[in-house]
Amino acid sequence: MNMSEPTQFRAEGLRGEMLRDEPMSRHVSWRAGGVAQRVYQPADLADLQTFLRQTPMDEPLLAVGLGSNLLVRDGGFRGTVLLLVGALTELRREDDLIYAQAGVAGAKLARFAATNHLCGAEFFVGIPGTLGGMLAMNAGCYGGETWQKVVRVQVLTRTGELLERAPQEYEISYRHAALRQGSRDTVGRSPLVRERLPCTSSRNRLASPVTCRRCSEEFFVGAWLKFEPGDIEVARQQIKALMEKRSASQPLQLPNCGSVFRNPPGSHAAKLIESCGLKGKRIGGAEVSEKHANFIVNTGEATATDIENLIDEVRAAVLRQTGVELHTEVKIVGEYKS
Ligand SMILES: Cc1cc2nc3c(=O)[nH]c(=O)nc-3n(C[C@H](O)[C@H](O)[C@H](O)COP(=O)(O)OP(=O)(O)OC[C@H]3O[C@@H](n4cnc5c(N)ncnc54)[C@H](O)[C@@H]3O)c2cc1C
Repeated sequence: MNMSEPTQFRAEGLRGEMLRDEPMSRHVSWRAGGVAQRVYQPADLADLQTFLRQTPMDEPLLAVGLGSNLLVRDGGFRGTVLLLVGALTELRREDDLIYAQAGVAGAKLARFAATNHLCGAEFFVGIPGTLGGMLAMNAGCYGGETWQKVVRVQVLTRTGELLERAPQEYEISYRHAALRQGSRDTVGRSPLVRERLPCTSSRNRLASPVTCRRCSEEFFVGAWLKFEPGDIEVARQQIKALMEKRSASQPLQLPNCGSVFRNPPGSHAAKLIESCGLKGKRIGGAEVSEKHANFIVNTGEATATDIENLIDEVRAAVLRQTGVELHTEVKIVGEYKS
């Protein structure tokens, strides 16, 4: 892919870091994949807002947290990755709620809640993602799901407008959260919002606001979460037990992206994959884990193409042998390598 520079950034008053032709293998937990044309790591929320206000509407944007559910194809991502881990890191107690910004990691959130004598956040320790990624995926485990804890979220729109939204504005289900069609009502305005900027998308001049995909794009930048008062020692013990359970059942010593496929209704993807004799199946450096059949591990030199081809083969074999169609939980983006 020719990573030329069609987009002009004004870059006025920005305090973050812009990387060009950045290997995304450095930013995803599979440690494989192509380069992103640009990666912008904002200094903080206000800086991200400034960046979005200056970014041309036709620039493809991709929010990335810890990349623990993401594969960027070997041909790379033609656009700008907004790298929010290490950037949006505020975490504080506000009365009976916790406010966390999108770049806060699940483990940090779980420990912060426990230290504040709040329980119900323990399950976050098992999810190696950021709050932004967990909101986008409605991540969960051991009976807990991210959106069960959300009182309201804070989002930045494509044009840099800061909004607060209620959970009712989203369609939320298993590993899925999406803004309801036509939902543009807000439950509040943040002080950082100074003006409603007109949309400068040339496409939007022709399309209605509802049909303009780019203009309706939003990024999670924070959330207020509610947990119950509890015993700090009980919460800490639970965190320890969950971590032990994880390392006993998951191949954590090799780069992976957690569960590759969603569990089909009433079944488990791992059981189906194992029943088809696919454990240990390999393409290039990608291998179906012997320890957990729904994990694909990078044994060292896997390319994104190896991983995606193995995903396709597993899906086809399971369909052929069991009649069940598996759907990926991991997000795959970018261009195929020509
Ligand atoms: C060892 C291991 C175990 C795992 N176990 C679990 C588990 O038990 N349960 C579970 O649910 N998941 C699990 N996962 C998957 C993964 O950790 C979660 O999906 C997590 O929520 C991803 O967060 P992230 O910050 O890494 O998101 P990324 O991988 O960076 O992004 C994932 C998706 O979210 C979008 N996104 C990220 N940030 C934002 C944002 N701020 N605003 C809008 N969209 C955004 C991205 O564009 C992308 O589409 C596991 C992964 C690994 C490697």
